[in-house]
Amino acid sequence: DYGLSEADPEVREIIHKEKERQFKSLELIASENFTSRAVMEAVGSCLTNKYSEGLPGKRYYGGNEYIDELETLCQKRALAAFHLDEKKWGVNVQPLSGSPANFEVYTAILNPHDRIMGLDLPHGGHLSHGFMTPKRRVSGTSIYFESMPYRLDESTGLVDYDMLEKTATLFRPRLIIAGASAYPRDFDYPRMRKLLRINMHWKIADAVGAFLMMDMAHISGLVAASVVGDPFEYCDIVTTTTHKSLRGPRGGMIFFKKDPVLGVDLESAINNAVFPGLQGGPHNHTIGGLAVCLKHAQSPEFKNYQEKVVSNCRALASRLIELGYKLVSGGSDNHLVLVDLRPLGIDGARAEKILDMASITLNKNSVAGDKSALVPGGIRIGSPAMTTRGFTEKEFITVAEFIHEGVQITLEAKKLVKGSKLQDFMKFVTSPDFSLMNKVSD
Ligand code: PLP
Repeated sequence: DYGLSEADPEVREIIHKEKERQFKSLELIASENFTSRAVMEAVGSCLTNKYSEGLPGKRYYGGNEYIDELETLCQKRALAAFHLDEKKWGVNVQPLSGSPANFEVYTAILNPHDRIMGLDLPHGGHLSHGFMTPKRRVSGTSIYFESMPYRLDESTGLVDYDMLEKTATLFRPRLIIAGASAYPRDFDYPRMRKLLRINMHWKIADAVGAFLMMDMAHISGLVAASVVGDPFEYCDIVTTTTHKSLRGPRGGMIFFKKDPVLGVDLESAINNAVFPGLQGGPHNHTIGGLAVCLKHAQSPEFKNYQEKVVSNCRALASRLIELGYKLVSGGSDNHLVLVDLRPLGIDGARAEKILDMASITLNKNSVAGDKSALVPGGIRIGSPAMTTRGFTEKEFITVAEFIHEGVQITLEAKKLVKGSKLQDFMKFVTSPDFSLMNKVSD
């Protein structure tokens, strides 16, 4: 039995290069983080060898004594980390990631082609909430369910709840989804809950009323640390990824109310949708890593970390505003800012490229009103990963200044480039004619 160095130097070398890249760059992608060594040890363990279809105590394979112990521990820790009463809430820790978790919820509580409403992708929502273009149903969610997005009020950058209410009253969805991939503010859960109550008379086929689900993928670490609003007070179902602000391994979880909602037993519907509905054997190594992460998520250090994620993000936002940038919604209450670069006459794709060349990793992002998702008008910047690496507000102020410098270089490069297409820009900035090193000051 050989280790990686002897067995496969090629893969080892790639991992080494990726480790160097992660170590040397400023990691500002809002959905990424650095998980702990303890989590990685569990993920890289013998747990990966075991099949365990089913749930603890009800498996379709033998030899699951310890896997049962592990999954039960993980479930208990998940409920404790989010301050939930085991009598009222249950959790499934087997979803392979965030998108499968969401689709599992849809298949659990909806019939094919039932109506759903989620935040539109160009306004900050996620593909798995039902994105479609005028030409194409892009995600499986929009292929198998009828999706009507709600949007931001472009003048404030905040969710347009009035419009959501008006549209929902006409569209009568069976499910409304809160949560986003690029929204710097908290969702107004009481308002969304009220909307459902007002409209409880909706009658769709034999079913009356609508469910409220929160996809807290981006902010689950912040929710666990109680530094943002608590979706569990108002929602019937809460899904999450486990690898973003929560700082665990790549995976997903689905929390559900134990009492029936709208006559549906969520516990059995969701558990059955995960397995055998859409998945086979759980990834026990991930569940092991998740259990470790959820232990940590209950510690005072974790709360302190999440408080810093938010204060660092505020410092970044304030400095960017001082430097003259327009931020969607005017700031941030969570771990990310969305910068609208359109007033400067550049786009997120060009800025992302230049910043990437300077080892500043962030992503281009649509801002409300954009025409193209490939050349969107904004960039999304997140604080979780660099906060894990020990950055304080002082360093995040410097980060804002580095980004400003990158944007200035992008503006300069745009002036120099021959041709107006994005390819022309990319070709020019990667050519010897354009040396970024000469552009970056000491
Ligand atoms: N939900 C939200 C809000 C997300 O931002 C993401 C990913 O970025 C997902 C779900 C999907 O997660 P995954 O990439 O693990 O499928």
